[in-house]
Amino acid sequence: MHTPPLSFRKALDAEELDLSPDTLATLSTYVDTLLEVNRRMNLTAVRDQEGVWMRHVFDSLLLLKHLKADADQHALDLGSGGGFPGLVLAIARPDIGWTLVDSVGKKARFLQETIEMLGLENARALSDRAEVLGQSEDHRELYTLLTARAVARLNVLLELTIPLLQVGGHLFAMKGEQAEVEAKEARRAADVLGVKLIRKTPHPGGGMLLDYKKHKPTPGTYPRAVGVPGQKPL
Ligand code: SAH
Repeated sequence: MHTPPLSFRKALDAEELDLSPDTLATLSTYVDTLLEVNRRMNLTAVRDQEGVWMRHVFDSLLLLKHLKADADQHALDLGSGGGFPGLVLAIARPDIGWTLVDSVGKKARFLQETIEMLGLENARALSDRAEVLGQSEDHRELYTLLTARAVARLNVLLELTIPLLQVGGHLFAMKGEQAEVEAKEARRAADVLGVKLIRKTPHPGGGMLLDYKKHKPTPGTYPRAVGVPGQKPL
């Protein structure tokens, strides 16, 4: 097993993030597995240990500071891909229940197999479209926390995620350099779906974390059918 590189440990220190030796060991097993499986399945374009630790794991861990300590939280990470940020956060916050969603079956299978291999009892992976989950009574308005990184443009992402969120819950959208522009463009979508942008936090490596809070239920017409949110954004 590889251990985290020095650059990663320094970055954690600089952000005053403190991880237990157990958490670091589980993350190391995960990173090794991801890089191994990535040789035959396209999970990430980043192909080296340091790159994965810094660009994916550290980036995902930056969310930790924003997560509440409350008991009984249910989180859903939409479009987890290789597991960012959802699988990293499931390892670092075992007290929160995590549902990792990806529409691509083989990615969801990788996530589920990795969850089992790591023995994470607080996580599960589903292969489904957000548009379908958002209209299912098993998922709609049931999650207290939604996360998403690099999934869709913000006006589209809001329609995919907000129907899944409980009133009072938060969406943390990890956005790139265009965050401000996208947030302006998504104002109408936010109004319609029932959320307010309450905080923007610049990311150390560029980009921004957007914190949306839900203040009223989402109208039943959203999300629209598979593909429509992307084709005709709110
Ligand atoms: N969050 C990961 C992966 C980003 S790629 C990371 O930051 O590295 C975006 C992922 O979202 C892809 O794996 C894609 O399959 C998934 N995705 C896109 N639209 C989706 C939808 N409507 N429902 C579920 N998953 C979706």
